[in-house]
Amino acid sequence: MLERARSRTEPWDIVIIGGGATGAGVAVDAATRGFDVLLVEREDFGKATSSRSTKLVHGGVRYLEQGNVSLVMEALKERGLLRQNAPHLVHDLGFVVPNYSWWEAPFYGIGMKVYDLLAGKFGFGKSRILSREETLERLPTIQTEGLRGGVMYYDGQFDDSRLLIHLMMTAAEYGATVVNYAEVTSVGKGADGFVDRVEVHDREGGERFTASARVIINATGIFTDEVRHLCEPDAQTMVAPSQGIHLVFDRSFLRGETAIMVPHTSDGRVMFAIPWHDHTLVGTTDTPLDSPSYDPLPFEQEIEFILDTASLYLSHPPKRSDILSVFTGIRPLVKAGAGTSKTSALSRDHTIHVDGSGLISIVGGKWTTYRRMAEDCVDHAITLGDLPEAECRTHHLKIHGYDDEIDGLSSMGVYGSDAAAIGKLAESDPELAKPLHPALPYIAAEVVWATRQEMARTLDDVLARRTRALFLNSRAALEMAPRVAALMARELGQGKSWIDSQLEHFRTLAAVYLPESAVARQ
Ligand SMILES: Cc1cc2nc3c(=O)[nH]c(=O)nc-3n(C[C@H](O)[C@H](O)[C@H](O)COP(=O)(O)OP(=O)(O)OC[C@H]3O[C@@H](n4cnc5c(N)ncnc54)[C@H](O)[C@@H]3O)c2cc1C
Repeated sequence: MLERARSRTEPWDIVIIGGGATGAGVAVDAATRGFDVLLVEREDFGKATSSRSTKLVHGGVRYLEQGNVSLVMEALKERGLLRQNAPHLVHDLGFVVPNYSWWEAPFYGIGMKVYDLLAGKFGFGKSRILSREETLERLPTIQTEGLRGGVMYYDGQFDDSRLLIHLMMTAAEYGATVVNYAEVTSVGKGADGFVDRVEVHDREGGERFTASARVIINATGIFTDEVRHLCEPDAQTMVAPSQGIHLVFDRSFLRGETAIMVPHTSDGRVMFAIPWHDHTLVGTTDTPLDSPSYDPLPFEQEIEFILDTASLYLSHPPKRSDILSVFTGIRPLVKAGAGTSKTSALSRDHTIHVDGSGLISIVGGKWTTYRRMAEDCVDHAITLGDLPEAECRTHHLKIHGYDDEIDGLSSMGVYGSDAAAIGKLAESDPELAKPLHPALPYIAAEVVWATRQEMARTLDDVLARRTRALFLNSRAALEMAPRVAALMARELGQGKSWIDSQLEHFRTLAAVYLPESAVARQ
């Protein structure tokens, strides 16, 4: 694909900058409408925000409370479409809002009925009020003191970076060219003052090449303003970055198959404790930042806040030493207007912005609504670029790996229809059938598969996003790194110096996922 991108001389219909959920969605939408599409990603696919979400495909109960009914309805519809189109990756998950006060059962009970109603035919399961006994049955590790009962409702859960890879594969299957480790370093304009080309730096080979385009779409999330400034250095910024962290614990902290949703933490936010890939995920926070970065560090106060809040709801409160991994993501929130610093008040809707130079930026929204965002964006691109009219085809488009026989989220299940080929690889060589670490379910064949079929280029790609080792257990990921590096080196035709430099780089990176990496907020 890199060769195809480099050698093409005629203009692409659409060039997409950024390979997160937003860019991948646009690539799938545009390719399935028959357009010639190039997507370039400066790091690995999903390296920034799209691998660091809470992994929920949801309408957002919280936005309902804020009265944003249309946002919730749209997200609930998208939730249903995503489960229909990627059933191997999106699964129903029961949530309980535990009740410790008399008013909570009627209050949240009614709220969840409205949530059910808004989902209509896209519903995931009916909500209901639970007795104390039923709540304990669902959540055996809930804090029992003062517990009156709970309100049960359903939403979806997924594996974010796995869906992203499958979206990239879908786009490629429909003819899109998608390249990771390719950075847009400048955006050029034609004589009419409109953007018509990008300069791309192939960060592996070192070469630079130009890609001409009828339309250029900026889908760079938290880096949106950086790319806009390549065309218009004085453009007013539109993104307000806000950091959220998650702590990962052993599964024993949340036994059972049900998640906990706390609608109001002491800082007025929502917090989740979720069973995910046989671990317990607890998050998230919302801390405004001045500027975006890859691999941001958690703040000490965020870790303390999550541990304190979790201890109110879990009978065996997790301690700092129980943290297996901490991961931090930055939301690309769109500034609603000047003068507000409270990020939960910023828009969580998506925005499509066209600069005077004709650069389309698509930003905000959430993972759940990526398909709808892409549809809107490509509709705009058709008008702006005077491209031939073509209907959106993604409402019922099966995503790569589609398999509706898979029940629940599991390490092999997320590969969907690819799991059989990985199984064959493991059968072909007993070495490849071996587990990579006793604490995690991954086997060597997955590393080979990721390197051969999924464009994994670095140790971080395999350990953080093709498998989720770094997110689930950072120490285990560090321990398995040498073996993974050796397997990758064999596939990529690399030698000892590559292995050494990958290991060195990964050790620095993985340290960010250890709880001791937290820094005090200034
Ligand atoms: C803590 C947290 C929890 C969340 N939980 C949920 C959830 O449970 N459910 C949900 O629906 N949503 C959730 N979200 C929101 C969701 O994750 C984001 O809306 C989504 O991932 C944003 O995707 P994106 O593609 O816009 O941005 P990104 O994933 O950041 O992608 C942008 C890409 O652009 C690339 N790029 C930047 N500059 C260049 C350049 N010059 N050249 C080439 N490429 C470039 C970057 O490397 C990056 O990969 C959560 C977000 C956070 C932070």
